[in-house]
Amino acid sequence: MVVQSVGLSGQTQSNGTVPRYTGRDYAFAEYTTARNFINGQFKDSVTGQVMDVENPRYGKNFGKVVVSSTADLDEAVAVAKAAQPKWKTVPMKEKADILYRFKQIMERDMEELCWLLSAENGKTYPESFGDIDKGLEVCEYAISLPNIANAQAGGQLDVSRGISCRVQQEALGVVAGIAPFNFPIMVPLWMIPNALMAGNSFVLKPASYVPYGAMRIAAALKEAGLPDGVFNVVYGRRDIVSGIADHDDIKAVGFVGSTPVAKMLYGRGSTLGKRMLCLGSAKNHMIVVPDADLELTATTAVASAYGCAGQRCMAATVMVAVGDVQHIIDRMVEIAKKIKLGKDMGPIITAEDKKRIVGHIDAAEKAGAKVLIDGRNMVVEGAEGGNWVGPTILDNVTTAMPASCEEIFGPVLSIVHAATLDEALAIANAVPYGNGGSIFTQNGGTARYAVERLDVGMMGVNVGVPVPREPFAFGGWKDSGFGHGDITGWGGFLFWTRAKKTTEKWALQSDSTWMS
Ligand code: NAD
Repeated sequence: MVVQSVGLSGQTQSNGTVPRYTGRDYAFAEYTTARNFINGQFKDSVTGQVMDVENPRYGKNFGKVVVSSTADLDEAVAVAKAAQPKWKTVPMKEKADILYRFKQIMERDMEELCWLLSAENGKTYPESFGDIDKGLEVCEYAISLPNIANAQAGGQLDVSRGISCRVQQEALGVVAGIAPFNFPIMVPLWMIPNALMAGNSFVLKPASYVPYGAMRIAAALKEAGLPDGVFNVVYGRRDIVSGIADHDDIKAVGFVGSTPVAKMLYGRGSTLGKRMLCLGSAKNHMIVVPDADLELTATTAVASAYGCAGQRCMAATVMVAVGDVQHIIDRMVEIAKKIKLGKDMGPIITAEDKKRIVGHIDAAEKAGAKVLIDGRNMVVEGAEGGNWVGPTILDNVTTAMPASCEEIFGPVLSIVHAATLDEALAIANAVPYGNGGSIFTQNGGTARYAVERLDVGMMGVNVGVPVPREPFAFGGWKDSGFGHGDITGWGGFLFWTRAKKTTEKWALQSDSTWMS
């Protein structure tokens, strides 16, 4: 067993082992230093620098993470490049065996990983479980690729007499992924399993606020038998992200994070001829019409807005109330008031983000919005230093207010009123983002009308967080995604590959055509 119980002072080891996280509830516990994972070994960066990792529930540091330089990135890319040709030739079924063992290891350590994710990100235990479980679902998809790839790609055809054509998806080489803070395990696993199954080697740059999810993915892949060098982790700042976009030996980059960085990175990498898929920010609208089911709508809307403290790119953050839906708004307020901060909902990732979110609430109130529930000035007993913002509902928000169109990324739901469904659709479609959206109605015709007209990549009908589950793919439109296709599913696999078309002839044909 590679994960060792070495206590609080335990360090990541050069042989690829990591200490166990000993926290088994929300109480504060210290953890190790997250070090780069290069060539199957945990190691310090060449800079020797580390930065603190904060537990946002307590606003207190509980670990450290190394800060790399581009020399560390160069080393990781060099070992990935050296390992890839051999990895590419490993039969897909054997690759799937390794991922299958990886999934089992992650499941074995599930409880510990959930508490660890909770400590680094602030998620509640069930939210951490969802983070890991959804990531493993992508892994499951990748494990089934030997079957899927055959059925989906499966291209072989006699195109002339004695001549056949076939198409195979081949690896690109060294590829990279850059992840945000809000899903420390799920987002890396949107990319890693499909990219590895395709025969690539991988370099991951996690968000430094949450280094441990990536560290545990690395340790579990090693324990599962992944050859050294095929998967590497480099922690660092912007120079590492730019270094990835610019690196000659990195052939494709998957990025998930905010729109300004996604857009910048997409432009930078694409100009250099790299394959880029960069997912960005969101402002998801939930359109509620008067015939919507009261309990289903109110419960679903509240869960969508406040799950993960609103720090989800698929959270519904604007409710467009069509006509008179006051009874639904009243019920939402009742349900949201019952959310227990610290138990049902976690903190905001940093004090700076908390300040930004509170600033949005202040500004909306000043501009005339009515604060139905106020999440400012909240404290959780025993965790007074945490970055707390409680559930907040702003009513009478107008489209002129930033709260209606800018991403707040916190537990703030803005209610905008519209007279008709067409007006509601126009309000939703006017924002630059197009990640997700939903319609709440009991009328199939109304639902279909909205689905056909809302300009988003992922649509929900009476569903507040319309994240497609495997094998359906995840991906937004407009300023929520730069590049072609989706990050998971079959499109995700295609992103990490290129098609080789082979035309074969094995004998001269007497009845040859112009082609043979
Ligand atoms: P972020 O853009 O700040 O960071 C993402 C990654 O980019 C991190 O690894 C970070 O270290 C790096 N980075 C940050 N600023 C950079 C810069 N100026 N130059 C180069 N690299 C930089 O995003 P975040 O705050 O970690 O995550 C929240 C954002 O991610 C939200 O906007 C959310 O909507 C978005 N998100 C989108 C999706 C999606 O699928 N569309 C999923 C999750 C999160």
